[in-house]
Amino acid sequence: MSAHTDNPQDALPDDEGSAFPLLLTPGPLTTSAATKDVMANDWGSRDVEFIALLTSIRARLLEIAHAGPEGECILLQGSGTFAIEAALSCFVPRDGKALVVINGAYGKRAVRILDYLGRASSVLECGEAETPDPAALETMLANDPAVTDVFLVHCETTSGIVNPLADLCAAVKSQGRRLIVDAMSSFGALPIDMAALGIDVLVSSANKCLEGVPGFAYVIAGRELLHQAEGRSHSLSLDLHDQWQAMERTGQFRFTPPTHTLVAFERALEEHEKEGGVAGRLARYTANRDVLVGALRALGIVPLLDDADAGPIIQTFHSPRDPRFDFERFYDALRERGYAIYPGKLTNARTFRIGTIGALDRTVMRGVADAISDVLDTMGVTDLAPADTRTD
Ligand SMILES: *Cc1c(COP(=O)(O)O)cnc(C)c1O
Repeated sequence: MSAHTDNPQDALPDDEGSAFPLLLTPGPLTTSAATKDVMANDWGSRDVEFIALLTSIRARLLEIAHAGPEGECILLQGSGTFAIEAALSCFVPRDGKALVVINGAYGKRAVRILDYLGRASSVLECGEAETPDPAALETMLANDPAVTDVFLVHCETTSGIVNPLADLCAAVKSQGRRLIVDAMSSFGALPIDMAALGIDVLVSSANKCLEGVPGFAYVIAGRELLHQAEGRSHSLSLDLHDQWQAMERTGQFRFTPPTHTLVAFERALEEHEKEGGVAGRLARYTANRDVLVGALRALGIVPLLDDADAGPIIQTFHSPRDPRFDFERFYDALRERGYAIYPGKLTNARTFRIGTIGALDRTVMRGVADAISDVLDTMGVTDLAPADTRTD
């Protein structure tokens, strides 16, 4: 039974009140029982069945991305950041320059990676609760011919804001630059048509909207770009060209693959397809968001973002200004009730976050909202106005 049916019993961990709460986080997140179950067996990395499974995962990811006939998918061990670092090292030429669009922690992390790699960079930065301006991006590119690549984050998980992908892509393409998109927390739930948008490189990972368990990430790029990347990476383990060539030749990873994670991911992809692919997943996450945000608003808790900018992935709420509100106590009390939420990550506002992705449904979201109401009562928190925007 999958964990996201409308029967609340199915949505709770088997062992209620156990050490395993539902994860209302942007990954690792709550996975279905079936996805966990298939990890009970050990798989050999050279097994023909395992090799066939890798081939099928790669093909399916290319379809979801609408990568077109030139597209190739490279799987890589590690978390999403490993694949971002691999992509930046392989696609930004050593004498190139990357313009990074920043409205949160993940854009900033890309700049740190470029610094480690010794690649020149510049930034277009706006506030964490604002979307970047495509016209400003176009102007910056027009004024700086040295920029070879643009790196942008689709859903900035710091706040959950969904950046205007189509307009930002159009700005980059109008200036003829290479485009690398961090679609880590959007891929599989928000539609992305790489070919139509002109996205050259897309990076995502197993444990976000495709609802797998952590252990690998993937990069989708055109064959020509991969050929150009030969010999460019500073790192053997992060060399996407080398990994790609080995996968093409042998169907296998070069080094020990996270076998259980890959088997679980194949199962998770089947569930994605059964749910109706990207459209089906988006519908469930959107319903999750609507229920959660609606219920917390009704309590008096204020979301950080306008509805138009807040995606269905993770919701950021202002912490209540009531002096009796204490995030640690709030977190622990929710955890005791079976829900693990996320602290805020904004630089200049006190917030908390609740993920609306994973194998969870509206029933769970209603449960979280009820638990929050209950916990705030217990804490004696009555003034729910935002902590950082005092109006009195
Ligand atoms: C999760 C995430 C990453 C990668 O984070 P890891 O912890 O390395 O998996 C990168 N970018 C975005 C937008 C993310 O949400």
